[in-house]
Amino acid sequence: MIVFDLRCSAGDHRFEAWFASSESFTDQQARGLIACPVCGDAGVEKAVMAPRVAAKSNRQPDAATPPAAPAEPSGTSQEVVRRLLAEIAEKQAEMLPRSRWVGRDFADAARAMHEGRAPEDLIHGQASPEEAQALRDDGIAAVPLLVPFVPPDAVN
Ligand SMILES: [Zn+2]
Repeated sequence: MIVFDLRCSAGDHRFEAWFASSESFTDQQARGLIACPVCGDAGVEKAVMAPRVAAKSNRQPDAATPPAAPAEPSGTSQEVVRRLLAEIAEKQAEMLPRSRWVGRDFADAARAMHEGRAPEDLIHGQASPEEAQALRDDGIAAVPLLVPFVPPDAVN
């Protein structure tokens, strides 16, 4: 899709309109199908020569950018968090191949290892917030995967 800034010749009203392509605009313009939303005049032409190409629908470059932070005392905390996350992501990528996926049995498997009922192993899986809390309460080390991770048995 392309958005054009248009203006009508009757009242010099400016407005934007979307077209599938530049040709589509030219075609509709020639057939008088584009009317000024203010006065209805069909004598419409481009107000600006260079069209802006719209961002793909699955990308929202502006929406994703947080508004300017209101006077953070120092810009370092964000930097630290970013570096920490990068380290965790690296560690996770390093460990996952050596770790055994246990899916929803994670809490049970972690508990079994903690209590010596199962051999020590590196595992990862899914746990509900309640299960994770219960593990923490019992002093069982479980670290949430901070990096988005698709379970190998995820159903499409
Ligand atoms: Zn007009």
